[in-house]
Amino acid sequence: MREGILVINAGSSSIKFSLFVGESGGEMALSSKGQVDGIHVAPLFKAFDPAGHPLAEKRWEHGESLSHEVLLSFLLRWIEEHLDGAVLKAAGHRVVHGGLRYSHPVRIDADIVEELETLVPLAPLHQPHNLAPIRALAAVHPELVQVACFDTAFHRTNPRVAEIFALPRALTAEGVRRYGFHGLSYEYIAHRLTEVAPEVAGGRVVVAHLGSGASMCAIKDGKSIASTMGFTALDGLPMGTRTGNLDPGVVLYLMQRKGMDAKQLETLLYKESGLLGVSGISNDMRVLLDSTDPHAEEAVELFCYRIGRELGSLAAAMGGLDALVFTAGIGERSAVVRERVCRQAEWLGVRLDPTANAGNVQCITAADSPIPALVIPTDEEMMIARHTRAVLRG
Ligand code: ADP
Repeated sequence: MREGILVINAGSSSIKFSLFVGESGGEMALSSKGQVDGIHVAPLFKAFDPAGHPLAEKRWEHGESLSHEVLLSFLLRWIEEHLDGAVLKAAGHRVVHGGLRYSHPVRIDADIVEELETLVPLAPLHQPHNLAPIRALAAVHPELVQVACFDTAFHRTNPRVAEIFALPRALTAEGVRRYGFHGLSYEYIAHRLTEVAPEVAGGRVVVAHLGSGASMCAIKDGKSIASTMGFTALDGLPMGTRTGNLDPGVVLYLMQRKGMDAKQLETLLYKESGLLGVSGISNDMRVLLDSTDPHAEEAVELFCYRIGRELGSLAAAMGGLDALVFTAGIGERSAVVRERVCRQAEWLGVRLDPTANAGNVQCITAADSPIPALVIPTDEEMMIARHTRAVLRG
């Protein structure tokens, strides 16, 4: 029997979906994907085949009154019509925060939704939007199995020393500690490494997930042992619009001297900083690389410099480095950023092959480079589909 797994990745104004189909017991393949954008304003549904050719489009006027239930009912009907003989078995959701409890994906019931709700204060910009479609699907299709896959789960193998802040113990006990994010991407890469580079998959690997959100992870023997994101997805590298790590004294200064309140700080740190803040031009790496403005160049320089520094720190956490992997939008597509990072990593034994790098091939280092650097496309949706099927099978 052919089985379908629906993967949902919901944000503040959009719900992305992917439908994976495969023989039961066999590998699954992407069958269609798409999104509903403009939720709460003027929702627009678009679906594509795996090659990106349009399959369907629908726009709702006066969308401010449309509930998640209405949109998900529509999506489910569309999915049922495009299963091509397969049976929809479950929906798998990307959920940003699983707290300390969830080190693995979990089958969702009402109690678990309540518990995940208690983690909203730890990820206020993501968690509520991840939970909304779970509730809506449970309301419109209660018999459909739903599975939550957490961005934090892969990092639960971190040693305690990598997780705690130097804060009074009571705060650590309360949950103020490093969780790490982008875990589904790192888990996918760790698995993919066993297929494409088995000689390093069991070693000490730093993966740089460089998208509009960016982080890095130290993976030793296939397990996360440290990462650059911490209590929230604000820590670590500068990102499209987020600061990355920042002396907490800056926050005190902004409060005490500039009178900024929590809401203003949240906007500054999450939405107005990073590549956008430094360049004053754009949060999009492509725009900055094409620009001749010195502020754009400084933003790119800072981004690459911070990656180089974190690479050293993560290698130190593992006692060395056996491979460097680039992934996500910038990591997979920007030869310029990869070249700058690799040049900074020469001291670690990374010797770039500029021709290979420009050609976007999998291995971008010279044949005699002591440490290989690889470009491996990530696929968080596939990871969620696999997890969902594994949870279904118990
Ligand atoms: P997200 O983190 O939102 O999932 P992606 O991983 O797709 O996003 O990364 C998106 C970012 O990748 C964009 O903001 C853009 O800056 C960058 N990007 C995409 N293509 C290129 C490219 N060819 N060169 C440089 N940067 C790129």
